[in-house]
Amino acid sequence: MQDRFVPSIAHLPPLLAQALVPLLDSDFSGHFEAKQIETLKRISGLEENQLLEALLPVAAALATPTISEFYVGAIAKGTSGDIYMGANMELKDEVLGHTVHAEQSAISHAWLKGEKSITDIVVNYSPCGHCRQFMNELVDGCNIHIHLPDQPTQRLSHYLPYSFGPKDLNVTEPLLASKAIQLKLVSEDPVILEATHQANKSYAPYTGTYAAITFELDDGSLFSGRYAENAAFNPSMMPTQMALTNLLRHNRQASEIVRAVLVESASGKISLANASLDALHTLTSVELEHLVVELE
Ligand SMILES: [Zn+2]
Repeated sequence: MQDRFVPSIAHLPPLLAQALVPLLDSDFSGHFEAKQIETLKRISGLEENQLLEALLPVAAALATPTISEFYVGAIAKGTSGDIYMGANMELKDEVLGHTVHAEQSAISHAWLKGEKSITDIVVNYSPCGHCRQFMNELVDGCNIHIHLPDQPTQRLSHYLPYSFGPKDLNVTEPLLASKAIQLKLVSEDPVILEATHQANKSYAPYTGTYAAITFELDDGSLFSGRYAENAAFNPSMMPTQMALTNLLRHNRQASEIVRAVLVESASGKISLANASLDALHTLTSVELEHLVVELE
């Protein structure tokens, strides 16, 4: 079991803790398949919602709250039945604007793994306004069930009444439901290919700037983040922050990054280059490779 989970395991029901220990091995990054959840339910004797709430300390152990020291864990359940953990990330000594919230981390985790919609969000503290707006960008967002410890389950519409969302800006394919685009990039470089593949799946209905970043680590492994826009603009999630939460969930460190490639579409209204460079240079001196590509 990874060291970072040791304190959280100690507080779990003993049968659940016993079943979890072998699953929290070196490859664990916060994803449980539906069949693993069924097994954990059977062994622990817990109902699904009880189980997911019990797992929140494990999700919170993925947090890197270097400024607040406030550990938030969230679990997104996809329509596949798989669950995806996320946690808050703050960048040491840097502006609060780089922060990723636990719900954003969990939802982006599900998106990167190919989920097409989220049915439930379980979180250990009440979602902030920023996260309520971020969740409202999801397909059928207002109907997502929000589970909090010691609170009745409510739909997002309860937490975000009179909401403003993608429909108000005539977006009919919201986050996780949008169709892939095709960027015209010919390359045999695996890092550039991966960044392009991820940019094709990014979500930019408001600016048309489809983008993703891929980090190559010193052992050759790749971690990516896509751009996810929001109807209210500010809660948009930047690719660099998404990629960082991705590698931190995998228990890897920014100091291992040897290459960073940002691919973005040429026809968009904005560029993510400066913002990506700023976030990247808070962590590493690696130069940003920036490719601007035409759409098919
Ligand atoms: Zn939040």
